[in-house]
Amino acid sequence: MPTPRRDDLPTRGEGGPDAKRPGPVGTRTCVACRQEAGKGSLIRVVRDASGVATVDATGRAPGRGAYLHRDPACVEIARKKRALDRALKASVGPEIWTELGLEPVL
Ligand SMILES: [Zn+2]
Repeated sequence: MPTPRRDDLPTRGEGGPDAKRPGPVGTRTCVACRQEAGKGSLIRVVRDASGVATVDATGRAPGRGAYLHRDPACVEIARKKRALDRALKASVGPEIWTELGLEPVL
């Protein structure tokens, strides 16, 4: 999801060199590799009111959320370490992992 920046030049004369940009807003920690990343590069998994973990495609679902990189390696780590189960304190069903792109484990 590249963001075109060509026309987004900073305005001179306001703020000056001391104007600090706020730190990255909305960063979250991947439960698998523990690295922070922007929300856009992470998948949110949320525990709904009934205690079931679901993939939150909108990123806005209510409930306790956990984040994973959109990277099969991280998803695999999370599955092996049960990182999502622990982060959400919920049982993460096998369909979650297939929805996240992993092959089902037989
Ligand atoms: Zn990760």
